[in-house]
Amino acid sequence: SELASLMDVSVTQVISTCMTIGIMVSINQRLDAETINLVAEEFGFKTEYVSAEVSQAIEEEDDEPEDLEHRAPIVTVMGHVDHGKTSLLDSIRKANVIAGEAGGITQHIGAYHVTLPDNRKITFLDTPGHEAFTAMRARGAKVTDIAIVIVAADDNVMPQTKEAINHAMAAGVPIVFAINKVDKPTANPDKIKTELAEMNYLVEEWGGQYQSQDISAKKGTGVQELLEKVLLEAELLDLKANPDRPGTGSIIESTLDKGRGYVATMLVSNGTLRMGDIVLAGTSFGKIKAMFNERNQAIEEAGPSEPVLILGLDGAPAAGDTFHVIETEQEAREITTKRKQLQREQGIRTQKLLTLDEVGRRIALGNFQELNVIVKGDVDGSVEALSDSLIKLSTEQIQINVIHKGVGQISESDVSLAAASDAIIIGFQVRPSNMAERMAENEGVDIRKYSIIYDAIEEVKSAMEGMLEPII
Ligand code: GDP
Repeated sequence: SELASLMDVSVTQVISTCMTIGIMVSINQRLDAETINLVAEEFGFKTEYVSAEVSQAIEEEDDEPEDLEHRAPIVTVMGHVDHGKTSLLDSIRKANVIAGEAGGITQHIGAYHVTLPDNRKITFLDTPGHEAFTAMRARGAKVTDIAIVIVAADDNVMPQTKEAINHAMAAGVPIVFAINKVDKPTANPDKIKTELAEMNYLVEEWGGQYQSQDISAKKGTGVQELLEKVLLEAELLDLKANPDRPGTGSIIESTLDKGRGYVATMLVSNGTLRMGDIVLAGTSFGKIKAMFNERNQAIEEAGPSEPVLILGLDGAPAAGDTFHVIETEQEAREITTKRKQLQREQGIRTQKLLTLDEVGRRIALGNFQELNVIVKGDVDGSVEALSDSLIKLSTEQIQINVIHKGVGQISESDVSLAAASDAIIIGFQVRPSNMAERMAENEGVDIRKYSIIYDAIEEVKSAMEGMLEPII
């Protein structure tokens, strides 16, 4: 019926055209893309498809310049493993609790914000590493304003340091370098600065344009100076938002909590989010039942650049999904239903349809091998990050398919899916249920558990190398 009205022909004509190509359809049946193409062609139309996100995007009005106010910069810490990302985030978290403020930052909700003595604020994404940054960017979310790239002064500029720099550059996000571990006797900050200069990143004190600060995340030295430099960078960016409108922003993390239901951490990018608002993110929505800040205090509202944990959604949206406030629950339900439907159809389509040149390539290779994986994790951010990294391990010889991913315990349905598709299950910070574990044993499904993303990636990588045919 929808297709008929788009083409301005009668429904009967569409139905009978479908019959001529051997498909029996009813008036309210949804057609797959191939059928739509064929039918449209019959009537002299060309088809063009827009993605679920685009077709169900929510339009936002632009702000008037006079409504805009300064907002805090949102900062991500990136760098090579063990160079001190976590230590730096911890040190900032501990050192910047304003005197008299009740309680420290007691829980990791994926982001936190600090207020400096002169009342200026900075928001930090509390998931160190560029995996989260990349996963969010892949979903079109530009969450980060400034990147701190941390390099240990007793080491070198490492592959992940370079990657971090490249990710920030690709996203057009300014970098402030933090040269860490200067308390160590073996530290040589100048060596790091030389290595950076060789890569064309000349630090400011040497006449370049990149700010850098020697720090010891462990002792806290230089950390305040680092924050000053971040704020200086933020001033240049002239970050503004309009607090006087409904809140919009991005999902940082979401998870299912036994007692509280779905819990999501959101970062408000514009407007103000309030208790009782109806929020929609991805294919989930709900009325905000409770809001908490990173100090676990109940709050009534959250303005631009403020992270907030909310209760009340009916599902776990993906990290990097944008959220919007919708006027009525009915409207929110309609949008999510449409999005789910489109997602389902597009999911089916991408699984079924192979492009011609892909088929050609597979045949040419002859020894095509696929590795199917199911990824389960405790929070969405890690699931996305891990899945993205695994997919990137794909080579010409072996394709990695993440056939299913999700937040929560490894369930029986995960195991049966794995058995059906010859997949391995990768659990990150989660375990299988007793039933699932028994079932996996019976079926011979391999469940692998990790608590470090890097370990998971390394193991899959070596498994892949073992799978490759030896070169004689
Ligand atoms: P991440 O992998 O980048 O998150 O690194 P971590 O923050 O976990 O730090 C890795 C190791 O380096 C830990 O053992 C830290 O205690 C140590 N470390 C981090 N910062 C410093 C520092 O400023 N000085 C010294 N001496 N050790 C540090």
